[in-house]
Amino acid sequence: MRIVLVGPPGAGKGTQAHVLAKTLSIPHISTGDLFRANISQGTPLGLEAKGYMDAGRLVPDEVTIGMAKDRLAQEDAAHGFLLDGFPRNLVQAKALDEILAESGIALNGVLDLEVPEDEVVKRIAGRRLCRNDGSHVFHVHYNAPSVEGVCDECGGELYQRADDTESTVRNRLEVYHTETEPIIEYYAQQGLVTTIPALGKVDEVTQRAVDALEQRKQA
Ligand code: ADP
Repeated sequence: MRIVLVGPPGAGKGTQAHVLAKTLSIPHISTGDLFRANISQGTPLGLEAKGYMDAGRLVPDEVTIGMAKDRLAQEDAAHGFLLDGFPRNLVQAKALDEILAESGIALNGVLDLEVPEDEVVKRIAGRRLCRNDGSHVFHVHYNAPSVEGVCDECGGELYQRADDTESTVRNRLEVYHTETEPIIEYYAQQGLVTTIPALGKVDEVTQRAVDALEQRKQA
């Protein structure tokens, strides 16, 4: 399946994508994770992206689209993928359509994770990521690791993202409303969107997501 996951920062896209990708045996492609990997490796792409990310703004489209296109061209994405954090505006959504059309393929569905804004802020403030793998996501209260500061999945060190501060989160939410929400309407017009409530336990949300995708598959 070829799926796009959308939802505000803190909706749990990374957490859900990690599990869903495993369940569906497709790669989880997160542009945020790709940027963070470039930053920790000190690549020119990482250097360029960092300023935008720390300010809670979008990295310029040419850079982002080029990176996403390269990743989608890798062999593991040939039979499906779960995109997380891309596309994030209409220009990127149209670019994705073109990239897929070049291979004669299209998206199967768009999963929209819905979560109230006050919840988003609480989630982000306590979020901790693993240095080894950005899809290993924890929360100091809601999903605490067994040992503080240590990833349950791989033993890696947990850290707080530089853009998870309150003022940056406000910018990211603003960017989400103005830039990203319009793509939900764009995809809805193509009949691709399923919206699911992203409140509740992680595995309850996963089950809703799996059920929604199952219905898409049969459609
Ligand atoms: P979240 O969804 O929690 O905000 P991500 O890890 O997906 O976090 O993204 C973090 C940051 O990376 C964004 O605020 C933005 O600066 C940058 N970024 C990620 N994906 C894109 C994209 N598709 N276009 C532009 N910038 C992006």
